[in-house]
Amino acid sequence: MLDNASPRQVWEAALGELQIQVNRPNYETWLRRTVALGHDDGKFTVGVPNTFVAEYLDRNQRSLIEKVLTGLLHREVRVGFRVEPGSGGVGAERGGRAAAAPPQQGSLPLFNPKYTFDSFVTGRSNQFACAAAAAVAEKPGQAYNPLFVYGGPGLGKTHLLQAIGHQAAANDLKVIYVSAEQYTNDLMNALRERATAEFYQKYRSVDMLLVDDVQFFSGKQKTAENFFHTFDELHNAGRQIAMTSDRPPQAIPLLPEGLRSRFEWGLITEVQPPDFETRLAILQEKASEDRFDLNGDVLDFLARQIQHNVRVLEGSLNRVIAYARLVRAAVTPQLAAHAIRDIGGNGALTPAVTATSIVEAVARHFQMSPADVVGKRRDKEAITARRLAMYLVRQHTGS
Ligand code: ADP
Ligand code: MG
Repeated sequence: MLDNASPRQVWEAALGELQIQVNRPNYETWLRRTVALGHDDGKFTVGVPNTFVAEYLDRNQRSLIEKVLTGLLHREVRVGFRVEPGSGGVGAERGGRAAAAPPQQGSLPLFNPKYTFDSFVTGRSNQFACAAAAAVAEKPGQAYNPLFVYGGPGLGKTHLLQAIGHQAAANDLKVIYVSAEQYTNDLMNALRERATAEFYQKYRSVDMLLVDDVQFFSGKQKTAENFFHTFDELHNAGRQIAMTSDRPPQAIPLLPEGLRSRFEWGLITEVQPPDFETRLAILQEKASEDRFDLNGDVLDFLARQIQHNVRVLEGSLNRVIAYARLVRAAVTPQLAAHAIRDIGGNGALTPAVTATSIVEAVARHFQMSPADVVGKRRDKEAITARRLAMYLVRQHTGS
C-alpha cells in the first residue's frame, strides 16, 4: 500500500516501525537523525549525519531495516547508507564543541539535537527542575553543585541533562555526558587495558560532567568508589556536576555512604508526571516538530490516554502519525485508539490476535462484513477498512 509513496513517506513509516523494534537509546543515537535520500528499483538510500553512524547501521541494523522496508514496500529492498551532513536535523551542526567532537570508543558524547531547553515543555510537574537545570547551564559551578534530578522513567531527565550540556557546550565549555553505565564500562575497559591514566585525564579535565541514571552505581562498589574520587576532584576545582536518577539519593541502595551524601550536597529536584495541560502541550510541540497536522481531538485523546510517561506519549504520537501516513486517512480518536492499542493504558494485546480476528474486528468497527474488508469493494470506506486491517495485521501478527 506504500507502493506510490515518496521515499520520504516510506522512511517515516519505517522509522515509526523501527522505533518500536529497537530500544530507545539505540533509536535516538542511530536512527532518529536519518533521512530518505531516494529509492530506485529496490535500492533504498538513507542519509545519515556522519560515517560513524553509517558504519554502525551498516554493520548492526542493516537486516532489520531491510526487513522493515521490504514489509512496507512489498518487495525485496536493499538499503545503503550515505553521509549527508545536512541530515542531522535541527541543531545537529551547531551543537558546539562537545556535540561536534568525534564520538570515542566507550562513550557517546553526541547530544540529541532535540534535547534542548527550547523544546522542553514546562508545567507544574517539572518547572522547578527545569529552572534549576537552566541555572546550572548558565552559571556552571556556581548555582547548584551538584544538581541531582530524579523521577520516574520517561519524564524528561535525560532531556534536561542534555539541554544543560547543549548550552554549556555552546558557551565553549568542555562537557562530557555519559550514562552511569557507560562510565562503568569505560572504567572497566581502562582497567583491563591498563589505560587508567587516559581515563582520569578524560573525566577529570572537563568543565562539566553530566552523568545519567546514577542509580546504576548501586552495588557496583569499585565504580562507585572511583566515581566518588572523580566527583571530589571536579567539585574541588569548581567544575559543575549534574546527575539524574530514577529515585532520590537516600533511596538508592548499596551506595558508599560518602557518595550518597555528596549527591545531596547541592540541589535535589524531582520531575513528576505531567498534568493533562502539559501533556497536551508536549504533544503539540512534538507534532509541530514533525510538521504534522493532527486533529485537536486526537491530541486530546492521546493526552488523556497516556499519563505517566512522556516517552510512551511520544511513541503513541509517532505511531498515530505513521499510521495516518500509511492509511492516508484523516485520523479520528477511534482510529488513533487502534493505532496505540497495545501501548496504551489497556496493556498488551493478547497473543491470540490473528489476521482473521483483526479483519472481523475492523469489519465490526466499520459495520461491514469481513468479506467487504478483504474483497474487491472499492469505495472509500472499504479501502480505509482494508488499509487499517493490513496495517494491524502487519503490526500484530508479523505477517
Ligand atoms: P527520562 O530520562 O526521564 O527517562 P527522557 O528525557 O528520555 O526521560 O524523555 C523521554 C522522551 O520524552 C524524550 O523524547 C523527551 O524529549 C520527551 N520529554 C519528556 N519530558 C518532556 C517535556 N517536558 N517536554 C518535551 N519533551 C519531553
Ligand atoms: Mg533517561
